[in-house]
Amino acid sequence: MTKTILFDLTNAELEKFVTDMGQPKFRAKQISEWMSRGAPDFSVMKNLPEKLRQDLDECAQTLLVRVIKKLESSDGETTKFLLELSDGEKIECVLMRTSYGNSVCVSSQAGCAMGCKFCASTLLGLKRNLTVNEIFSQILVAQWELRGDKFSEKPIRPNGDANNNDVSHIVVMGTGEPLQNTQNVIGFIERANTDMGIGWRRITVSTCGIVPGIEDLIAWGRPINLAISLHAPNDELRKKLMPIANKYTIAQVMDAAWRFTDTHNRQLMIEYLLVGDANGNLLNATTECANELSELLRGKNCMVNLIPWNAVAEREFTSPSGNAVHRFQDILIKNGIHARIRRERGNDIGSACGQLRLNNTKGVSDET
Ligand code: SF4
Repeated sequence: MTKTILFDLTNAELEKFVTDMGQPKFRAKQISEWMSRGAPDFSVMKNLPEKLRQDLDECAQTLLVRVIKKLESSDGETTKFLLELSDGEKIECVLMRTSYGNSVCVSSQAGCAMGCKFCASTLLGLKRNLTVNEIFSQILVAQWELRGDKFSEKPIRPNGDANNNDVSHIVVMGTGEPLQNTQNVIGFIERANTDMGIGWRRITVSTCGIVPGIEDLIAWGRPINLAISLHAPNDELRKKLMPIANKYTIAQVMDAAWRFTDTHNRQLMIEYLLVGDANGNLLNATTECANELSELLRGKNCMVNLIPWNAVAEREFTSPSGNAVHRFQDILIKNGIHARIRRERGNDIGSACGQLRLNNTKGVSDET
C-alpha cells in the first residue's frame, strides 16, 4: 500500500486527512508541528494517542525522505545521511557542526547530468530533479538530528552560535547541479528563510557555471552567496575536467558571477578542486595554473576554496601531495588572492560527493 506523505499536503488537505480518520481537526496542527521539527515517524509524536500513531504508521509517512543510512565522522563533527525518496531514488545530505554554527549541505537533484570527470554523483546520470519539499525535508532531517524532540515552545531562530542546536547555514552543494533545477531551489531557499528563519547571507548556492541560472538568481534578487566550481584557470584545461566548459566559457561564467556578487556586495566563492592525473602528474595544481588563476581573479572580491581531491574509486585521478596544495595556496596569497584550504571533513565516512549514494545504488556496501 502506497503511504500518503503528510509533509506534501497543504494544511487543508492534512485536516481532511485526519478528519477522514475520525480525528478532530487539531490533530492536523499537532502533526504539522512535529513535522516542522523533522519528526521522522509517528512513534515520536507523544501527544498523539498511541492507537492513532499506529494507524498513521500504516497509511502515512511524515517527510518525503527516509534516512536509510547515517554515518558519523570519528570527530563527531560531521554526519552524513543517505536518504531514500518516495520513488526509491537515493540522495545524500551532510550536517557539519562548525565553529560558526550548524551547516547542512543539501542535494538538489537525484544524480547529475553535468558529467564532471572527478565526481561520483554523475556516474549514473541524472534521475530527476528534487521538489521544493524534497530539498526542504533534508534540512528537517538535520534539524531532528540536532535537536530531536527536545525543542522549546519558542520558534526556532538560528543565531549562528555553535552551541545553538538549530540549522543555521545551508549550502546547496550536494548531489546535482542546483541551477538545472533553479525554480525549485529558489522555492526551497524562500521556504528555509520563511519557515526556519535562516538568513539569505547564510545560504550558498554552488554551480558548475550555468550562466542562464546565474541570470535567474540575479533576477530573483535575494542576497545569498554564490559559489562557482571553477577547477581550472583556462577553458582548455576546464574542458578536460568539466563538460559544461564546452557550453560556457570561463569569461561568460565569471561575467555573470561578478554581476551577481556586485549587485549584492557579496564575496564570490571560487571552488577549486586540486587533482593530479592517474600517474600523479599535477593537472590543475601547477605553478602556472596558480598564476593564471591569480590573473583571472586579481582585484576581485572573492575567496578561493582549495579542495584536495577526495578519491573516488571509479575515477582515475590522484590527490596532489600536501606540499603541492600548500604551494598552490602560497602562490595565490602572494598574488593578493584570498585563498584557504578547505578542511577535509568526514574523510572517514566517504565524504566525496555522491560516493555514499553510488555505493548504495550499485548495491556495494560502503561499510568497512
Ligand atoms: S561536481 Fe556537481 S555539477 Fe559536477 S557532476 Fe558532480 S554534482 Fe554534478
